[in-house]
Amino acid sequence: MLNVTKDQIGTTTLVKLSGVIDEEADLNKLIGNLTSEATIDCMGIERINSVGCKAWIRFFQKLQVEKKRFKFVACSVVFMEQTNMISNFACGGTIESFYAPFICVSCGAEGSQLLVSEDIGTKGYQAPLISCLKCGKPMELDADPEDYFYFLNSRP
Ligand SMILES: [Zn+2]
Repeated sequence: MLNVTKDQIGTTTLVKLSGVIDEEADLNKLIGNLTSEATIDCMGIERINSVGCKAWIRFFQKLQVEKKRFKFVACSVVFMEQTNMISNFACGGTIESFYAPFICVSCGAEGSQLLVSEDIGTKGYQAPLISCLKCGKPMELDADPEDYFYFLNSRP
């Protein structure tokens, strides 16, 4: 099930999504109309199935046609997997920040880290250095950086 909260901050609508995007998630009903600018917080998206993915693209393509401005922030790893698999998943929206999976090479601890798209772009698509919370040793991106940061190539 998909949970949606909406807050109006000045001219921007902040939409927070959490849960599962599947055939049960009626985006038109749950998100509804948006003002000219929207920030979509995708931190809580846990799963997107193929039906949900199609509905997602339909919903955001409509916003794109209506010339609404929207951006995605704090995108979950699940969101990023879709983005890197389906080129028009963001429908012209900017992905401002996103989570990336990290793994510690020394102790095997796993975690995810919030990254800012612009920072990664300026650092030549390299994952930043992150210290393990458990042992303090460096952690590595638990994905191929070329794949995981692929979406940055199509940034407007
Ligand atoms: Zn460690």
